Amino acid sequence: MNKNFFEKQMLVDGFNEDSLKKLLNSKVLIIGCGGVGHPAIIYLLSTGIGNLYIADDDLVDFNNLHRQFIFDQNDIGKSKVEIIKSKLAGKYPHSNIVSINKRIDEKYLFEIIDDIDVVIDASDNFETRYLVNDICVEKQVPLVSGSCINQEGQIISFKNNDSGPCYECLFPRKKNLLDQNCESEGVIPTVAGSVGTFSSMQAISIILGDEECFNKLILINMKAGKIAQSFLSENPGCIICS
Ligand SMILES: [Zn+2]
Repeated sequence: MNKNFFEKQMLVDGFNEDSLKKLLNSKVLIIGCGGVGHPAIIYLLSTGIGNLYIADDDLVDFNNLHRQFIFDQNDIGKSKVEIIKSKLAGKYPHSNIVSINKRIDEKYLFEIIDDIDVVIDASDNFETRYLVNDICVEKQVPLVSGSCINQEGQIISFKNNDSGPCYECLFPRKKNLLDQNCESEGVIPTVAGSVGTFSSMQAISIILGDEECFNKLILINMKAGKIAQSFLSENPGCIICS
């Protein structure tokens, strides 16, 4: 591996030989290779995440090209994860990209999660979000949740050690939430891009041992040019973590 690739990064406070080694030895699972997933994948690889598991069962659609910039017209109808792997493996040879061409289900997630250091949930549906949260809480794996709707994005990192908060504490599952996603609400590329970028940095910080990123909600309103942070506490009545 040519470490000159990381030359500029190594000049930044907190990034040195040891941190690069940690990143290269780390395993990150990103669930969802859509508008949030694309920038997250690129920045995780470029910062030196050594093992990146990418999960999605979708095929590339023409209207994905709007914000899923790794794809082009020749990719339409092909597997998202296989295209991403084929395009990026040579560009980031320090990283092992593992493509998971299926919708994450409970059985599969249980099989692989013990191997994972951080999960990024960039999925587009609440069913997956609750499933991922339930298993990350049970297995005590840190979870970065990145989502966006319309002009707004949110990023939260959950530590998932022996106490909350967890995703369920903030968003107790309700039937009326199940239909709300980017499909029905719409999104603009810059919002998805920002959420993906923030999510990747949160995962990198977690791997490097930064405890300060946990249990904070980062809210981005792109149109207003505002970023807000608030601290989260657990819900004592949470059905998952309490
Ligand atoms: Zn909880």
